[in-house]
Amino acid sequence: MPRPLAGIDDYPRVRLGHVPTPLDAAPHLGAALGIELWVKRDDCTGLAMGGNKVRQLEFYLGEAQARDADTVLITGAVQSNFVRLAAAGACRLGMDVHIQLEERVDDADELYRTSGNVLLDRLLGATLHSFPAGEDEAAADAALERLAGSLAGEGRKPYVIHLGIDHPPLGGLGYVVAANEVMEQARARGFGFDAVVCASGSALTHAGALVGLRAIGETMPVHGVCVRRDASRQRPRVSKRAAELAAMIGRSEVFAEHDVDVSDEVYPPGYGKLNEATHEAMWMAARCEALLLDPVYTGKAMAGLIAHVRAGRIAAGSRVLFLHTGGLPGIFAYAARLDPWLSGANA
Ligand SMILES: *Cc1c(COP(=O)(O)O)cnc(C)c1O
Repeated sequence: MPRPLAGIDDYPRVRLGHVPTPLDAAPHLGAALGIELWVKRDDCTGLAMGGNKVRQLEFYLGEAQARDADTVLITGAVQSNFVRLAAAGACRLGMDVHIQLEERVDDADELYRTSGNVLLDRLLGATLHSFPAGEDEAAADAALERLAGSLAGEGRKPYVIHLGIDHPPLGGLGYVVAANEVMEQARARGFGFDAVVCASGSALTHAGALVGLRAIGETMPVHGVCVRRDASRQRPRVSKRAAELAAMIGRSEVFAEHDVDVSDEVYPPGYGKLNEATHEAMWMAARCEALLLDPVYTGKAMAGLIAHVRAGRIAAGSRVLFLHTGGLPGIFAYAARLDPWLSGANA
């Protein structure tokens, strides 16, 4: 019998992460919610404060290296974890990095612009460029292509990590791998999961995990929590990415459109914007488990998990896997916005 993920080996890859990341029990938070909660600690992937993009970058930077690139270009939000980790990966591989920071969050304060990931981008030696629009991925990619063109004109060998939906979802392969990894850890403990919950942004983590789990015969629901756009726009994106990833590993038959599960009840008022449910999730995880969540991604993903449990969509007593995708430097960039709420919560 062929190995279920044999198709992965066709893609160049560089090892950047500390894997396997831990699979931790979260008994106090689980008890507070009436479930058995486990956390896949991809905030502990090791590279420059870690996160899910480390697994994704193993494939992008693998391709960059295979093409003999010397300069990496990437675009993202001002507090993007992806660009911070691309800068870190480029350092490891001896490449230069150019970062285009997009104005996605309209009420950005001084800390948002200078602390957290931005501080780390600068420390990692990235060349920063700014880009005004926040919602136009094709335009952001086009601007990056122009920059790549001018660098090539100077004799550099640029490699562009595209954000847009019209480029192959290479990074999602990292979560096909991760799905296999976490199920090996679960099997070693003698159990499986009734449900999986993760943030759904570019959709590469969500689609990769979904395809990876189905490819090894796992049938539990994989709940994606919208953090970047509402469910009506996120659902087709996850479908497209999952179909592409299944095809990329030669397992198209494992993906069916009706298998895509996204919810956006904790998404408003929008990308990178706090709400009460996210505050509550960050606070509960910290107090119950010393588990730190970020306000943009993992805080919302945990808020989504809590909403599913309270609505009965995840049944009481279920064994649930929460995919912690990192993002921790973002906590510091949101200090001013978290402060009034923390004062209130602790009063
Ligand atoms: C990018 C990111 C996500 C979303 O992952 P996608 O693969 O883009 O959907 C979730 N959590 C953190 C911390 C991230 O940086």
